[in-house]
Amino acid sequence: MKLVSFLQDDQMRIGLIRGDEIIDLSKADPGLPTCMKALLEMGPAGLERVRACAGADATLLVQNVRLLSPVRHPEKVVCVGVNYADHAAESGMALPSEPVIFNKFPTTLRGHGDEIVLPPTSSEVDYEAELVVVIGTGGKNIRKEDALHHVAGYTCGNDVSARDWQKGKPGGQWLLGKSFDSFGPTGPFLVTADEIGDPGNLRICCRLNGKVMQDSCTDQLIFPVEELIAYVSQVASLKPGDLLFTGTPPGVGMARNPAVFLQPGDQVEVEIERIGILQNSVVGRR
Ligand code: ZN
Repeated sequence: MKLVSFLQDDQMRIGLIRGDEIIDLSKADPGLPTCMKALLEMGPAGLERVRACAGADATLLVQNVRLLSPVRHPEKVVCVGVNYADHAAESGMALPSEPVIFNKFPTTLRGHGDEIVLPPTSSEVDYEAELVVVIGTGGKNIRKEDALHHVAGYTCGNDVSARDWQKGKPGGQWLLGKSFDSFGPTGPFLVTADEIGDPGNLRICCRLNGKVMQDSCTDQLIFPVEELIAYVSQVASLKPGDLLFTGTPPGVGMARNPAVFLQPGDQVEVEIERIGILQNSVVGRR
């Protein structure tokens, strides 16, 4: 199933995609919530109720609604640095022996079609196409063998990064460099895990103004999805709706010669096989 969060009459809703339509789930089944996190908190039973709505006629056209980040208010947005071997090489970093974990504030999140806003305090804003895992069933000390059972689904993400903050500030301000408002576009859909199967064999691309900048496959992940879930959950309990950005492949702007940074008017697309295309435009410094 492809699920979305969207705005209708200024209210947040969740929907099920059917062709070019959205089934408004809380209209199709009044027992369903209007918030994706609340749906995921219902566990597998919630998704079964969604599945039962597939024939409903409470529909809207996708093109007529504003899509939001699939999970609007996750408790955590966890990210992984240096998780593609060839991206490590282009960044001049050694292969990590354990996952390099950082985070973004949930206030970074934006949906498909929303703007990435360049802040006045950075001149080196970069793109990073990433597979994003959406946690379904929470847990602590999740075993690697069980980890994929905790995944509700997947979406496309752009881990937008101000390199002059991430690398140029004392100590390296990873959190702040990754956390300017609008630096976390995700979407357009949450594609449920049953439709994806193995998340370790998906082609992932980033295009800037139509030009391919990143083109790789999640089989290049140094630490695959199940290892990341096991690693993080030994420290922090994972909760329904938590997002896990799994790292970016080679081709980021800072590693190019000359470097390429986002400019007002740019169009950025992240495409992941079987998940979709996340498109965002870049607007000038505010
Ligand atoms: Zn990243």
